Amino acid sequence: MVVRDDRDVDLDDDDDEPGAGSDRPKKIVYSEFDCPACDANNPYDDGFSAGAIVRCMTCGTDFDVFEATERKPRLREK
Ligand SMILES: [Zn+2]
Repeated sequence: MVVRDDRDVDLDDDDDEPGAGSDRPKKIVYSEFDCPACDANNPYDDGFSAGAIVRCMTCGTDFDVFEATERKPRLREK
């Protein structure tokens, strides 16, 4: 049996992003937000990130999404 060196290359690739989703490095994807206008919690199954526009399902207000922390986005009413 011969052990090939290119096995190391594959391992390097997998180790690139430990403990995080490997398809979107650095980009925070939120799965919900609390509406600043009416305080309703809005789950977003598809997820959203900074630069997106989200709409509160309770009061219908649209918000621009800004990146704030890893847990909560910052929202500004449009
Ligand atoms: Zn609302």
